[in-house]
Amino acid sequence: ACFKRDLNCDATAKLKRSLVADVPVPAVIQGSMHDALHARASEPDAEDAFFVADLGEVRRQLVQWMELLPRVQPFFAVKCNPDPLVVKLLASMGTGFDCASKAEIQQVLREGVDPHNIIYAHPCKPASHLRFAQAAGVATMTFDNADELVKIRQLYPGAKAVLRILTDDSSSLCQLGLKFGAAANLTQSLLATAQQLGVDVVGVSFHVGSGCQSEAAFADAVLRARRVFDEAAALGLRLSLLDVGGGFPGRGDQSGLSFEAMATVLNAALAEHFPLQSHGHVRVIAEPGRYFVASAFSLAVNVIARRQVTNNSGPSFMYYVNDGVYGSFNCIMFDHQHPVPQVLTRAGHAVDKQSCLGPLRPSSVWGPTCDSIDCIVSASSLPELQIGDWLVFHGMGAYTICAASRFNGFKISDVVYVDSDSARA
Ligand code: PLP
Repeated sequence: ACFKRDLNCDATAKLKRSLVADVPVPAVIQGSMHDALHARASEPDAEDAFFVADLGEVRRQLVQWMELLPRVQPFFAVKCNPDPLVVKLLASMGTGFDCASKAEIQQVLREGVDPHNIIYAHPCKPASHLRFAQAAGVATMTFDNADELVKIRQLYPGAKAVLRILTDDSSSLCQLGLKFGAAANLTQSLLATAQQLGVDVVGVSFHVGSGCQSEAAFADAVLRARRVFDEAAALGLRLSLLDVGGGFPGRGDQSGLSFEAMATVLNAALAEHFPLQSHGHVRVIAEPGRYFVASAFSLAVNVIARRQVTNNSGPSFMYYVNDGVYGSFNCIMFDHQHPVPQVLTRAGHAVDKQSCLGPLRPSSVWGPTCDSIDCIVSASSLPELQIGDWLVFHGMGAYTICAASRFNGFKISDVVYVDSDSARA
C-alpha cells in the first residue's frame, strides 16, 4: 500500500509540475473601464479592436452573489470566458470551477485550485479527458445516461457522480435540454443502474438554460431535483449535493431580468424543498458563467471603412469595423445576443454623451471579413461617423472571446485589464 501511495504521490507531483504556467501575467491598470477605453483608443496609430476587462466588476459580482445567495457556492463556468486573469482572480477568492474538458481542468489546476473545488460538468466525456480527471483527482462529475455510467465505472471507479436532470428551459436563450439532461421518467432507472454498477451517485444537477428569462424556471427545477432526491432515497441512496447550474443574468442584462429577483426565487425554493434544518444537510453549488463576466468586458472597435447608400427612404450608412461575427461577435450566432453600439470617439475626440452627437442616420455595422453573414447590427440609428472613429459595445464578457476565430486572417481582439475597485487602488 505504501509503495502504491508513493507512486500516486509521484504521479501527482509530476502532474503538478507539468501544469506550472510559464506565461507572463498581463498588467492590470488601476482605474475605470471608461478611462481605459478612451486612453487606448486615443493612442497614436491605435487601430486594432480591443476589450477592456474590469476585474473590479468581477469581484463585485462575487460579493453580490455571496450576499444574495449565501447558501449556494458558485463554481465559475470556465467555458463562458476562460480569461486567465478572471480565472486567477476567482481562484484567489475561493470560488469553485465548472470545467467541461481536460484543457479547462488544466487551466484551473494551474491556478492552484483544489481538485475538490472543480466539477467536471459535462455529461458526455471523452475517455482521455476522463482518465485525466482521474489522474488529477477531479472526482465530481455529471452524467445523464447509462453509457456514461459504464464509462465512468471503467475509467474512474472512484468518481462522485452527479445526475443531470432535464428541466423546463423553454424561456431561455440557449436551451441546453435539447442535448443534455435525463427526463423525469428515466431518473429512477439511471439511479438503479448506477447502484448495480457500483458508481457512487452523490447528487443531482440541472441547468435551466443559459440566458434564462424566467425566475420561475429555478423554482420548478428545484422541485424536480427534490423528486430525484426522493427517488434515490427510495433506493437507499442518500444524496448530498445539489448543483443548480447556470443561467443567471449578468448585470444590466438585455432581458431586464435581475439577479436579485432570481436569487429570491431560488432561495425560497431551496428553503421549501431542501430546508437547512432537515436531516442530512445538502450542499448546494451553482455553475454561473455569464453572471460573473458579462458586464466586466467592453469591446471597442474601429471604423475601418464605410459606404453611403441611397435608396427611396434617403441616405444610410454601412460601417465596417475590425471585429465581427467570426470574432468576438460570434455571440450573435451562438448566444442569440443583440449587441448595441455606442460612439466612443469621433474625429479623435472622446464622446461622453451620446445625445450630443447631432442628427442620427439609418446605419448598419459590419464585421471585417468578406462574408455577408458578418453583420453586427443590421438596422440602427447612429450619428454620422468617419473612418477612424471608434464604437464601443458594453456587456461583451460572456461567450465572446472564447469562441472567436481567425477567419480571413483577422486577429482575435486583445484584452486590456483594469481594476476599478478604488479600495484596492
Ligand atoms: N454549466 C453548464 C453545464 C453549461 O453548459 C453552461 C453554459 O452553457 C453553464 C454552466 C454556464 O451557464 P451561464 O453562463 O448561463 O451561467
